[in-house]
This record gives sequence, C-alpha cells and structure tokens, in this order.
Amino acid sequence: MSLITSHSVDCPCCGAGVSVPLYESVNVSLEPALKERVLKRTLNCADCPTCGETVAVEADLLYHDMQKQLMVWLRLDKLRECQLPLQHHTLRIVHSYDALIEKVLIYETSLDDCVIELLKYILWPDASGRKPEEYRGDEIRFTGEEGGDLSFLLFAPEGTKGFSFPKSEVPELAPLVAKARANAPAGSWHVVDRDFLLAGL
Ligand SMILES: [Zn+2]
Repeated sequence: MSLITSHSVDCPCCGAGVSVPLYESVNVSLEPALKERVLKRTLNCADCPTCGETVAVEADLLYHDMQKQLMVWLRLDKLRECQLPLQHHTLRIVHSYDALIEKVLIYETSLDDCVIELLKYILWPDASGRKPEEYRGDEIRFTGEEGGDLSFLLFAPEGTKGFSFPKSEVPELAPLVAKARANAPAGSWHVVDRDFLLAGL
C-alpha cells in the first residue's frame, strides 16, 4: 500500500498556501504509475492555485517494488543503518532523491548497485581525465541502459560529461562484484555507495 498525507507549504513565488499530497511510501507493484512519477519527479508536488508555480516538498520516502523484492528508503537524515530486516529483499538506504532515482533505474536493468558502484569507481579516472588519487568527490550517476550500453553522467568541477560501458563486459567484473555483494546481503539495509564499496574491497 502507498501512504499519503497532506502537507501545507507556502508558495516560493507568491507566498500563497499550497496543499501538497505527500507520499511517505509508494508501492509500485500495486500502483505502477507511481514508478513513473518517482522517475519524473512529479511525486510530492502540487501547482500553486494562485500563480501556477509547481511547489515540491522534499521528504523521506519508502519505495517498494514487490516483484523485484526491492525497497529503497530515502532518508534525508542520512541514516546509514536500520534494524528492520526483511527476508530475501534487497534493502537500500539513500540520502537524496537523485540517488533514489538511480537505484530504481539500476534495478530496472536487471543488474545491481554493487556492479554500478564498481563501474563508477573503475571508469572515473578515464571519464574525468584524472588519476584515481585525485578524486574530489565528483558525483557520478547511472542514467540507464541504451543499446546494450550502461550510461553514466559525471558531474565534475569542469562540467557535466556522459560516458558508457558495454553491459556485455560486466561478467568480467564478477570476482570484484561478488566481494562487494557479500557485504550487502539480502534481508538487511545498506547504503551502497562509493564509501561502502571501498570499505569492502
Ligand atoms: Zn504561487
């Protein structure tokens, strides 16, 4: 089930009160349209009745895909651990809406986030033109699969740049991926990001 409450905010444009329906959780198996709304960022938004401006509310959100046995929990308080085990499920904590969207896209490609975090780490030096030790916290986002290639966007101080990796070459990473996966077993919650990956390799 999806859980909705209502939240009243002031329009940033005209100051009028806007009532925004706020989802605390979405079950995209029962309501598939909500997956599209998560991906298009039209969830937890409403148009101001006075000036028409779209007002968005940032809030925690639990994303649940029953078919994929996947739960992704957006926690703005940066929680990293959670003691609510759920057998056989892939359970992830993320700290931004961008990271939530990325996780949804990853599990749509039938890969997992250990593969994607590993690829981001391996491909960053080439994509950025810098040495591995020169990493400055650049953000890299997986953006989906197209024509057999896994696509990424690098947000660096010099600008934004796209790069890709052939999905057919993912099996070659198997030993490293297995190591990362062992640290994120199904049934317990994990933040799977660069820090998580590096701690386990
Ligand atoms: Zn307004």
